[in-house]
Amino acid sequence: MSLLVIGTVAYDTIETAYTRRENVLGGSAMYFSIAAAKYTKPALVAVVGEDFRPEHTKLLKDNGVDTQGLEMQKGRTFRWSGRYEVDWNTRVTLETQLNVLETFDPKIPQEWRAAKYVFLANAAPSVQLRALEQIDRPSFVMADTMNLWIETSREDLKKLLRKVDAIVLNDEEARILTGERNLIRAAGMVLGMGPKYVLLKKGEHGAFIMGSDVHFSLPAYPVEQVIDPTGAGDTFAGGFMGHVAASDRCDPPTLRRAMLWGTVTASFCVQGFGPEALVARTQAELASRYDDLMTIVSP
Ligand code: AMP
Repeated sequence: MSLLVIGTVAYDTIETAYTRRENVLGGSAMYFSIAAAKYTKPALVAVVGEDFRPEHTKLLKDNGVDTQGLEMQKGRTFRWSGRYEVDWNTRVTLETQLNVLETFDPKIPQEWRAAKYVFLANAAPSVQLRALEQIDRPSFVMADTMNLWIETSREDLKKLLRKVDAIVLNDEEARILTGERNLIRAAGMVLGMGPKYVLLKKGEHGAFIMGSDVHFSLPAYPVEQVIDPTGAGDTFAGGFMGHVAASDRCDPPTLRRAMLWGTVTASFCVQGFGPEALVARTQAELASRYDDLMTIVSP
């Protein structure tokens, strides 16, 4: 079933306690779409600059992503750099160069305006709102955001929250948005801002979904070695929405299972730099880890 994502495609510079890599393919919509393509055929709407390498468009296509909405504009591709502390849970943004994002006005290709499932990946809330206006009557819309937008575009973000079915936040974002330290109370306050569901990610401590008809919590899948957690959140969302779109339903049992698929998909993402570990994974490997996770959480 049709799944559309609007967000960023980037070149990232990533520093971990062990190494540093420049110009790694990144961006919220890039990670999301590669993850979702494990379950369905997603379409990507994003902007890149003239420096975007053809092999990266090919990588997206070869991994099952519809790239007709990937626009190339004069200028440089969005660049982000960040550093992880040794415990992986703390990430500091070192630099954000908006470049072509500064003037990004998303255009949803005509055939994708009827998309039933939509993910508004991390981008300026005004861009997310403009994208959403172009979609006819979606069944389920989920949005992501980050501390930068919570701090600089709170009003647009609040407007967005009234128009989406679900919002995905990490613990720090939930606390900044609500001013509440307790995550259950923070999730309740976010629900009061409009969405039916809030998905709250807690890094290596897992994630939960809360809404009036569902409250479900999972640990992260335990991996022995983390290489690079960049994109884990977007990959989680990609696995989640990929399952929802492939099932063509968004009832509570589907949302609970989608949490498992999101968790499993994200666990592969952190095992390599950029999208490399995710790209290499087959559906059989994902399914096998899903079964493992079921065993881990079952009594
Ligand atoms: P995650 O680790 O899931 O939070 O996603 C990291 C990805 O988000 C990186 O590949 C970045 O290129 C991208 N990113 C970082 N900052 C922003 C921003 N302000 N807006 C949109 N995407 C961003």
